[in-house]
Amino acid sequence: MTRLLNVLPLPLLALLAWPAAALELPTHAPVPGGVMHLPLDNTQAEQRPDVRFQDHPVMVVPSEQTEYAEQAPWVALIGLPLSLQPGTTQIWVEGEEVAINVEPKTYKEQRITLKNKRQVNPTPLDLERIQREKVEILQALESWSPSAAPVTRLEKPTEGPYSSPFGLRRFFNDQPRRPHSGLDIAAPRGTPIKAPAPGRVVATGDYFFNGRTVILDHGLGLTTMYCHMEEISVTVGDELDTGDTLGTVGSSGRATGPHLHWGVSLNDARVDPRLFMEDEAQ
Ligand SMILES: [Zn+2]
Repeated sequence: MTRLLNVLPLPLLALLAWPAAALELPTHAPVPGGVMHLPLDNTQAEQRPDVRFQDHPVMVVPSEQTEYAEQAPWVALIGLPLSLQPGTTQIWVEGEEVAINVEPKTYKEQRITLKNKRQVNPTPLDLERIQREKVEILQALESWSPSAAPVTRLEKPTEGPYSSPFGLRRFFNDQPRRPHSGLDIAAPRGTPIKAPAPGRVVATGDYFFNGRTVILDHGLGLTTMYCHMEEISVTVGDELDTGDTLGTVGSSGRATGPHLHWGVSLNDARVDPRLFMEDEAQ
């Protein structure tokens, strides 16, 4: 050990001295709206490999603290969009095409009647606003920033029962709408909403559909979104720690009652938040 102490750089010494904490990955769910684990066995350990899916960079984490430690130096965590067709699809690993297989999943269906017709059929002026806001929201959800400590697990952001699951296929007044891209948590107006992991505020706004909204960037293509808020207590650029309050539950925008709509995006794919939560995997 004395010899090792003399030659090894400090970070390696730290690894030898203490067992590394396990890195808990999101639950492996290779389905539309899920997250796929892809161990990268043809890559070098030294540098994080470049992985791309549908033109977006993909989160890649070191495997040494995961169940893939013996298998490969790195693991790609690929967010699979809800709109993805099951079957074979391509991703890019260091510029090389690699085939992955996406399994089918059927999400439940729900029909809702909305009394406020304006929110079902917006006016031309509303549509302009909606389009403007959509660009702003999509840009924030696409955020990519490097991160020394990848975030792969999320705490529940507010207390309350789940009132609408991710992936629900919805019809408003019998008109088909996009499937539910987040997870709803029912909670009384004013209930604090807390950051589920360290992250930076990349957007806040009061949007036509989403109401008062905050978007956080957790690094390596993981972003989270909080909608229908009553109050926002953070501003763009704020760095939050796990548990920091970012605002409160409300019913702003298109909401039938107070609840938090919580969205999780990985490589710009909306994925099921519960895959990132302890003891919450389906
Ligand atoms: Zn929702």
